[in-house]
Amino acid sequence: MPMLTISRGIYVIGGPEISYTYDAYSYMVKIGNEYVIIDAGTGLGFANMLSNILELGIDIRRNIRYVILTHCHVDHAGGAYMFYKLGLPIVMHEADAEAVRTGNTSRTASDMLNISFIPSPVTISLRKDKELNVNGSSITIIHTPGHTPGSISIYFQVFGKNIVAIGDLLGVLRKEWFSNGEEWRKSIEKILALDFDIVLSGHFYERKNPKEIFYSALEHGPTWIN
Ligand SMILES: [Zn+2]
Ligand SMILES: [Zn+2]
Repeated sequence: MPMLTISRGIYVIGGPEISYTYDAYSYMVKIGNEYVIIDAGTGLGFANMLSNILELGIDIRRNIRYVILTHCHVDHAGGAYMFYKLGLPIVMHEADAEAVRTGNTSRTASDMLNISFIPSPVTISLRKDKELNVNGSSITIIHTPGHTPGSISIYFQVFGKNIVAIGDLLGVLRKEWFSNGEEWRKSIEKILALDFDIVLSGHFYERKNPKEIFYSALEHGPTWIN
């Protein structure tokens, strides 16, 4: 399936109906003349993602600045190694980086989803919130643990719109992933303090009432699974 355009400069290059059934959504966003990719899918839909990227007529090594992984789960990070092999820097939080470097089957949810995880080097591993410079603009990486210890959200502007990409911040929690309900709550509050128009999540995107889903999550509390 071809990619979708959510808003000017914001493309969905991977996802269940786009690249592979078990891929979380992968986004590519345009910042100035450069692009940032958010999440890499399982790796099993990589060829489809690649053709979506090429369709935009961009030079991958020259125009893509970073591949940022919101967390270590295989549906988001399994394709990291393919991007790394293309010469792109892989960026994520230190607390989830080890699972990606080693391909730990329970931390990456590779055992639960029954998809093998190809370990990948991590080029830049972050320990705290960080501003990254992309083509003269800055994008903010915010540590939002809860779903996993190293889950991050990315806050940035594209053509005048404020965007927050949250990975699985609103997803389920699980003991084997070292999920944490208290951190989950604090992370959601951290995101609610921002001003944003569009939410890009690993399993949905929302433009109409972007804050409502966060309020409703806080009201209902986290969902734990076995
Ligand atoms: Zn996911
Ligand atoms: Zn996840």
